[in-house]
Amino acid sequence: MEPNVFAEILPKVRSMNLNVGLPTEKTRSSFRLGIYPLRITLELKNKSTTQCPLTTLNLSQTIETDDKPIITTSQDSLDIRLKLRSYVRKKPAKQLSAKDILPPFSASELTKLKNIQCGYCKIPLLKTDTFSKIMDMPSEHWAELIECWMCHQEDYPQARMNDIIVREHIGLVGNTYLLIHPKDVKNDALEIGERLAQVDWTKGLSKKWWPLNCTRCLCPIGEGLYQKMEGENDASELSLLAIKLHKHAVFIELESDTNESITQRYPFSAFIVADLFEAAKAHATYRFIIEGQNSNQTYALIWLFGWDTKVITNALQDESQCYNKFSPNVAQFCVAIKSDLKPYNGDLLEQWQKDKTVEHLVYHDDICLQILLMLKISTSCLPFSKKTINGFSVGFIDIHDS
Ligand SMILES: [Zn+2]
Repeated sequence: MEPNVFAEILPKVRSMNLNVGLPTEKTRSSFRLGIYPLRITLELKNKSTTQCPLTTLNLSQTIETDDKPIITTSQDSLDIRLKLRSYVRKKPAKQLSAKDILPPFSASELTKLKNIQCGYCKIPLLKTDTFSKIMDMPSEHWAELIECWMCHQEDYPQARMNDIIVREHIGLVGNTYLLIHPKDVKNDALEIGERLAQVDWTKGLSKKWWPLNCTRCLCPIGEGLYQKMEGENDASELSLLAIKLHKHAVFIELESDTNESITQRYPFSAFIVADLFEAAKAHATYRFIIEGQNSNQTYALIWLFGWDTKVITNALQDESQCYNKFSPNVAQFCVAIKSDLKPYNGDLLEQWQKDKTVEHLVYHDDICLQILLMLKISTSCLPFSKKTINGFSVGFIDIHDS
């Protein structure tokens, strides 16, 4: 059996940490380590093993082979610290910059949009050829920015927060969703979540985003901005102003050169990374509270502490979940997560909730659970000494390579 390998490449400090899990057998084992500029090989030997499998890691960054690696061994693992060369030997390694972290399906990728389908039952949701124009929204925090720029807000009453302006036949593209006019959607394709009736509209609330499901299969697919009609308290008297379709919950149907349509979908992790990064850019915040949309429950506290680390590992049970086996070119968001919020950590949660610099990210409850599972799986592949930091679990999220 191959040993579990976890490698962490830190381009900023030009180093690479390699952790190899050693067999737990009591017999003495020896290892042979091969260090090449763009490759590391590892061979473990012990008395019971006759045929030694060779583990090979291919790297995208060059290792300084003139320097002796620092090797520390313990009973169950082998830690190897290597230096990276400051110049690149083969093809240049991709340096991740802010503009690289782009979520899939930007407006330029949607020029050949044919339709948007339910992510579960694949029923088309839009009216045929409804969009005359598809545009990117400038930032997730655009409305907030407008508020910052305007001196005389009374001159621009339409631009206040939560006053989303959508026009028929124009699709607006955000990081994680498409914002569209209700008339561009097929009649009765979407239906509102049943809890809308419970909203107390008498308390000065006039507009609210509410979950929308696919009418055919009831799969959660987006949100609708509902407005209460003047003077009405009855929930049946609501008008739908705008619809958000979550990119991870739909199939995007594009026209190909051969006139046949192709459908694409990306996992939710690609969009969550975009949300984290967007908030980090807009507010310089690195702490997030993950909240469930339907339950109003707090699922986790996330602290983002790096986005240029590259992880190479073979320690995951299901490789399709997060990483490709020994794939050297995927960069990861490095996060610390705390999900055991009660009863011991209530204080910390309260502290973060009061702190204005902490960003709240609200997702459908199913997505919140998937985030927890995804991060838990990523934590499981870390060597024991790196699994926790200040009482938080350490985890990774793949950055979608655009
Ligand atoms: Zn459906």
